[in-house]
Amino acid sequence: MRAVDIIEKTRDQQELTQEEIAFLTTGYLHGEVPDYQMSAWLMAVYFKGLSTTNLMHLVQQMVASGDVLDLSSVHGVVVDKHSTGGVGDKTSLVVSPLVASCGVTIAKMSGRGLGHTGGTIDKLESIPGFQTELTTAQFIAALNHHHVAIVGQTKDLVALDKMLYALRDVTATVPSIPLIAASIMSKKIASGAGTILLDVKVGNGSFMEDLAQAQELATTMVQIGTAMGVETIAELTDMSQPLGQAVGNQLEVQEAMDTLQGVGPSDFTALCLHLATSIVAAAGIAQAKDVVLNAFHSNQAYERFCEFIHYQGGDLAAFAALPPAPVVYQVQAPVTGKVARFQTKDIGRAAMLLGAGRPTKDAVIDMAVGIKVLKKIGDAVQAGDPLFEVHANTARPDVDALLLAAVSIANDAVAPPLFYGVVR
Ligand code: URA
Repeated sequence: MRAVDIIEKTRDQQELTQEEIAFLTTGYLHGEVPDYQMSAWLMAVYFKGLSTTNLMHLVQQMVASGDVLDLSSVHGVVVDKHSTGGVGDKTSLVVSPLVASCGVTIAKMSGRGLGHTGGTIDKLESIPGFQTELTTAQFIAALNHHHVAIVGQTKDLVALDKMLYALRDVTATVPSIPLIAASIMSKKIASGAGTILLDVKVGNGSFMEDLAQAQELATTMVQIGTAMGVETIAELTDMSQPLGQAVGNQLEVQEAMDTLQGVGPSDFTALCLHLATSIVAAAGIAQAKDVVLNAFHSNQAYERFCEFIHYQGGDLAAFAALPPAPVVYQVQAPVTGKVARFQTKDIGRAAMLLGAGRPTKDAVIDMAVGIKVLKKIGDAVQAGDPLFEVHANTARPDVDALLLAAVSIANDAVAPPLFYGVVR
């Protein structure tokens, strides 16, 4: 077998055999297929796609390339949740303890920030003492105690994805639906959950800007999960503006805690309740919506948050005592009208410029800095009203200019829908 023949077949949109996919991927994993041939194959997939059968073979190879977590000793249905990423997306911090307080076990392996998007693990690390690295035994014990644990991906989970992702990043082949779907689903399947809820973001703050593309990604991921015996549900939700108000690690954790106590932003609260209901229903609990609302309003979800943070070593009293960023100031609306549109990725980039994300792999995040988006699409503003609150180390005219360029104010505008549908 030769890699060049496999590249040629993919380029000509011909079906590959399972053996050919195994030859290419294990060869790459073991250094027998060079980067230039794998790059050419990825580009062929980018342009010509992969059949559903070949995609399944690829996912199987990816899952088998590293550790696979065995969660069979966790009691009951084990659910995982994954967002395709956006700006201000702290949903897991609320949804995980919320569904746990309804009796559903949620085992989350999360990533760090990627590009303009923040990562759940980075956000949790703004809580002094919080441990994101647990052994498998500790992870399982946490799940059996509290029904919820959130940890970072182990370094040996889906080894092939790490290699392919790094190559895609430098060969302009990241935005390929089959490659994104295989990357996300291989990691979710290797993480061992029996049910997966995918929050597929739609809009200019996400990887998939238009609804048709997001639907295709959602359908592809649901097909992969189902074929691999894992119940998979994809909710399509809005990312045409930052979610809630806070963008930045410490600010987002605080907003998640406010939300769990019933005083969070309305869009973010509604999204969390919707996703939690979807998970609780998928776990087979009757009248899921009422169960979720009851856990939310009776403070059980917030109590579960405090318990699980404490169990993983986090100190919420120390978090409450953390100093804010040295400089906090507002950026005002230049004109009167209604907020009509955000360049959402630029708001993520503005937070990165302040230090909330990593410009390089090893950079250290500044947990305190970030942005609060005070007006959302459809809100009326007068010239001079505050649009953003910047939490920084010094005044940052460059960030202010980026934020102002990222918002359009028009005569009229309506808030976008929060949900665009579900794929099962
Ligand atoms: N997230 C992933 O894990 N992989 C991708 O390819 C894109 C987003």
